[in-house]
Amino acid sequence: MTPLKTVEASIFRLKRTAKCWNRLYRETRMVAVALKSPSHPVFAHVVVTRRCNLACTYCSEFDTFSKPVPTEEMFRRIDLLAKLGTTAVTLTGGETLLHPDLEKIIVRIRHHGMVAVMITNGYLLSVDRIQSLNRAGIDRLQISIDNLNPDDVSKKSLKVLDQKLRWLAEYAEFAVHIHSVVGAGTHNPEDALAIARRAKELGLGSSAGIVHDPTGKMQQLDERSKQVLDEIESFSKPLFSFARHNPWRRNLVEGKPNDWHCAAGGRHLYICENGLVHYCMAQRGYPAIPLEQYTQQDIDRERKAPKSCAPYCTIFCIQRVALVDQIRENPHAALVQLFPAGQGSDSTANVPFPVRALTAAFAPGRTGVLRKVALRVLNIH
Ligand code: SF4
Ligand code: SF4
Repeated sequence: MTPLKTVEASIFRLKRTAKCWNRLYRETRMVAVALKSPSHPVFAHVVVTRRCNLACTYCSEFDTFSKPVPTEEMFRRIDLLAKLGTTAVTLTGGETLLHPDLEKIIVRIRHHGMVAVMITNGYLLSVDRIQSLNRAGIDRLQISIDNLNPDDVSKKSLKVLDQKLRWLAEYAEFAVHIHSVVGAGTHNPEDALAIARRAKELGLGSSAGIVHDPTGKMQQLDERSKQVLDEIESFSKPLFSFARHNPWRRNLVEGKPNDWHCAAGGRHLYICENGLVHYCMAQRGYPAIPLEQYTQQDIDRERKAPKSCAPYCTIFCIQRVALVDQIRENPHAALVQLFPAGQGSDSTANVPFPVRALTAAFAPGRTGVLRKVALRVLNIH
């Protein structure tokens, strides 16, 4: 490597590290704000186009003809979400990279101080596009990969996408997460394991979900799929990983329902291409109110509304928010549920430090020095 190339590589590494710390700071702030207050949407999924360049046979979230949501309309929706107090926006589709002004939309999200996330099938990624996403300020990018080789069901295959993953490992200044699924049907659990291993080899994040039907309900898992899920979760590096400590998933893989309250429509919003607010991608049609008419009363009502689909729901990102709410309402019970103790040991002794610190600072009734310092450091008023 020439001296110039070495300097360029060092500058890139420094920039990537600085962005990583900035992202962690803003995401910690997001969790702290959610712990402090129950009355705003923690995150929203926003559809930028329904069109997709692939046609996975299990998918009910795409078409082959829709136009992208006009950019000015996307700006208006992002501004409305910011006004409702939303702290993170995940851009989704269809295929997000088909939107011609995707980067401008990301800039708008970051302009409001919200965390910016996008989901893509990765087919349209190039080195230029990755650098353009760097400049726009995307925080996280998630690619779902279904199998090792393309088949009749899905072309989201490691064989096709491996070059894109190598480019992401080399050029992305944002966090990259590879998601695969296990479960009934056509998904081979060994494929999910191989995909997660490849992600780890490249220094990218990985996780595995459970196949669910179009209403969000899980399909039964066989023994090998359960083992694969455990193995993939053991790859996660952070001190605390929801994937590793997910009590909902622990029950579901055993075929047991979960007793929890889903606050979709309040803590999580799904905005479809027509600008209507829905609970989530699996429960479109409820409450289906235009975003510009969505008020604090709607947020409070839907946050409290019971959801009959909750016991077998596999939409873990929404359960993550429920967990934050449980910690705020009853920290001890939530931590015991998250970190069940061995017989005779202290039920919360193995709680990781970041979870203890955030709980100690922001659980209700806390007024001490730690809370004051945390509020100041995280710039929360
Ligand atoms: S790539 Fe994603 S949006 Fe497109 S058809 Fe497949 S699952 Fe659906
Ligand atoms: S429980 Fe909530 S997140 Fe799960 S499918 Fe129902 S509305 Fe969606």
